[in-house]
Amino acid sequence: MKLDGLTAAVTGGGSGMGKATAEALAEAGMRVLVLDRDGPAAEATAAAIDGRSAALDVTDASAVDAALQEVVEDFGPLRLVVNCAGIATAGRIVGREGPHDLDAFRRTIEVNLIGTFNVLRLAAARMAGNEPMPDADGERGVIVNTASIAAFEGQVGQAAYAASKGGVAALTLPAARELARHAIRVVTVAPGLIGTPMLGGMDDKVRESLEAQTVFPRRLGRPEEFARLVREIAGNPLINGETIRLDGAVRLAAK
Ligand code: NAD
Repeated sequence: MKLDGLTAAVTGGGSGMGKATAEALAEAGMRVLVLDRDGPAAEATAAAIDGRSAALDVTDASAVDAALQEVVEDFGPLRLVVNCAGIATAGRIVGREGPHDLDAFRRTIEVNLIGTFNVLRLAAARMAGNEPMPDADGERGVIVNTASIAAFEGQVGQAAYAASKGGVAALTLPAARELARHAIRVVTVAPGLIGTPMLGGMDDKVRESLEAQTVFPRRLGRPEEFARLVREIAGNPLINGETIRLDGAVRLAAK
């Protein structure tokens, strides 16, 4: 898909990888709707790129649908959705204070997996009604999700987070298979350790140890590197039904 002039929506666009993605898509000429539960952050990203913003929770079915409806009316058919909204949680299955808090597990699945699926399903329903793009493949739209390498090698304390991201990775192929009849692609990125506010709370020692586990380059990834991959995915029609690691070859140890 040639991105120039088309409409995109980015969840979690108020910070980190979502913000960098919204900026990169705007730079590629897209008109971007920035969605985030942090309204002022979403607004700040949108203002800088001449986009639109909406403050919402990605698990809220009617709020997401209304925001997508509005952007279609303002900007035209939705061609690209990037799911970046997510939360990082940690907790042992059996910790010092007893078993894992069930509500904390539920909330992680709710935001990272159900929130992603909610946006995916509502976006796909809209994209299915799009005119095919006037290119040889006649694409109608592309959906990009964000998992994590924790989907494949979750560490001690990451049972909830890894389960939520494993779900995102697992739904990628069946979603791509099903939506193929509408000429919609579905692709997931599994980032390694990316220097965003999500990692901001980490002390220097933990960060240095994580960086040391990275094979090459031996540093945290940059949000812009994630955004570059999203642009490539959106533009390259053969990338479909896959979860792509973006991680400098890091493989997380058990702890
Ligand atoms: P971030 O904290 O900088 O940004 C996440 C954004 O999502 C925030 O603006 C937050 O307000 C928003 N958000 C959270 N819950 C939401 C909800 N329910 N509804 C709407 N918005 C919500 O984090 P980031 O590092 O840019 O993470 C982006 C994605 O990448 C997340 O899904 C995260 O799990 C994943 N990820 C991050 C890393 C990393 O190392 N930073 C690694 C692997 C995967």
